[in-house]
Amino acid sequence: MSTRRSVAFIGSECYPFVKTGGLGDVMYALPRALTKQNCDVKVILPRYKSIPWKWQEKMVYRGEFRMDLCADGRTFYVGIMEYVCDGVVYDFIDNEDFFGYGNPYTNLVDDIPRFCFFAKAALAALNYLDWIPDIIHCHDWQTALVPVYLRTLFAHTPVGNAKTMLTIHNLRFQGIYNIPTIKYWTNLPDYVFNKDALTQDWVNANLLKGGLYYCDMITTVSHTYAGEIQTPFFGEGLDAHLRYHSGKLRGIVNGIDCDLWNSATDNKLAAPYDIGNVLTEKKENKRALQEQLGLVQDDHMFVIGLISRLTDQKGLDLVNAIMPSIIDGNTQFVVLGTGDERYEGAFRYYEDTNKGIVCSNIMYDEGRAHRIYAGADALLVPSLFEPCGLTQLIAMRYGTIPIVRETGGLKDTVVPYNQYTNWGYGFTFDRYDSGLLLDAVNRAKTLYFTNRWRWDEMVQRDMDVDVSWENSAEQYRGLYMELKP
Ligand code: ADP
Repeated sequence: MSTRRSVAFIGSECYPFVKTGGLGDVMYALPRALTKQNCDVKVILPRYKSIPWKWQEKMVYRGEFRMDLCADGRTFYVGIMEYVCDGVVYDFIDNEDFFGYGNPYTNLVDDIPRFCFFAKAALAALNYLDWIPDIIHCHDWQTALVPVYLRTLFAHTPVGNAKTMLTIHNLRFQGIYNIPTIKYWTNLPDYVFNKDALTQDWVNANLLKGGLYYCDMITTVSHTYAGEIQTPFFGEGLDAHLRYHSGKLRGIVNGIDCDLWNSATDNKLAAPYDIGNVLTEKKENKRALQEQLGLVQDDHMFVIGLISRLTDQKGLDLVNAIMPSIIDGNTQFVVLGTGDERYEGAFRYYEDTNKGIVCSNIMYDEGRAHRIYAGADALLVPSLFEPCGLTQLIAMRYGTIPIVRETGGLKDTVVPYNQYTNWGYGFTFDRYDSGLLLDAVNRAKTLYFTNRWRWDEMVQRDMDVDVSWENSAEQYRGLYMELKP
C-alpha cells in the first residue's frame, strides 16, 4: 500500500454547490479521484447564499470562532458547516457579511475583502478542527493569499507545517487592487509588499503574484499552457515572474468526471448510447436536438455545436467572421452560452437571419449542454488561449468531433486528424486566423460528407480516449509526494 497523503483543497467554487466554469468541475472531480488513490481530502469552500437549499440543508454545524483580519483589529465570525459525500469532506466557511449575497464573483470592491477573509478563515479553520494536512492545494487568485498567510501569520501555528501547491486555472484573473486596501484587509507584514512578492507596481498589489512567490509548487492545467504563460503574449504581465519561478512550475492536464459525463447512463439524453451503438443512436439524439431547438429536421445536416462563455478568450471573433461561410445549406449551428453583449447580439442576429439553421441559446443550461454534446456532429473550440478546456474532452467522450485551435490544453488533448495514416481525434488549426478556422471546419465537413466510414471510425476512436481524472490525479499525487516524501 502506498503512503497515505492528506490534502486540503481550498477554492472559490465547486460543482454541484456552485460553479461558474472549469474550476468548479476540477474542484469536484479531482478530490474524488484522489480519494481513490489513497489520499484523504478535505475541500474548503465559502458558504455562499446562492448554494441551493438541497445542499444547505445537508450541512452539519462543526463549530465557530472569531478571527481577526484587518488592520483595525476588528474580529469576524467564522462558522464551519460540513457535508461529507463519497469519501470527500466539504467544509463551508460561513459568514453572512461576506457570503450572504450575490454570486461568487461580483466586483473586485467586494471580492477582494471576501477572499482575503476566506483565505485566512480556511487556514484558521484547519487549526480549529485540528486537521493538519500534508498538502494545501489552492486554486487561482481567490485563494492565492493562502500560501502568503501560511508563511507569515500562520508560520508558527500547527498548519504552518503543510506544503502548498497553487494551481493556475486561468492566468487572466489575478486579483489586483491598490496596496493600502489589501494591506488594510489582510494586515500582512509590510515585507510581503515587495516587488518580488505581492507588489505589482507603485500603487497595486497582485494576490496571485504573491501566492506564486510563497507557494512550494505551481501547477497549471496543461503542459502547453505551462510553457505559454512564460511568454509575453500569454503571460498577462506575469511572464517574467513565472519564468523566474519556472523551476517549481508544472503542467498537468485536466480530466473530466466520467460518471457525470457518461453517454450510456445520461438521463438527460433522448437516446443514451455507448461506443457499440453510437452510430445509430447519435442520429436519434441529433433528431431530438433539432426538434427541441426548432431546427430543420434533417439527418443529413452537419451539426456544429459551440458551448462556451461568450468572451473574447473563446475565439468568437473568428467564429463571427466565418459564420456566413459556414452556413452552406448542409450545416446547422448551435450555440449555448452567455457573456459579452456583443457576442450574444451577434449570435442572436445569425439566428434571426437563419431560422431553422442557426440556434442561439443565450443561457446557462446544463441539460441543454448534455443534449448538444450528444446531438452535434462536431464541437467548435477556436480559443485565443485555453489553459486546458473541458468542452473538447466532453465532446470526445460523447463521440462529437472537436475542431480546435492548437493552444494550451486543446493542443495537448486533441491529436490532429491525419488523412494519410487515418489517425487523430479532431481537426485543428494553429494561427489565430479566421481563414484557418474555416479551413479546419471545411476539412471536417469534407471527411463527414465524402468519407463517412472514416468519420465514424474517428467518432468511436474519440469515445475510447481516456479522458478520465485517473491519470492526472496520479500525477498530482506524484507531486504531493515530491513536496512531502
Ligand atoms: P472555462 O472554464 O474557461 O469556462 P472550460 O471548457 O474549462 O471553460 O469549462 C466550461 C464548462 O462549463 C464545461 O463543463 C461546459 O460544458 C460548461 N458550460 C459553459 N457554458 C455553458 C452553458 N451556457 N450552459 C451549460 N454549461 C456550460
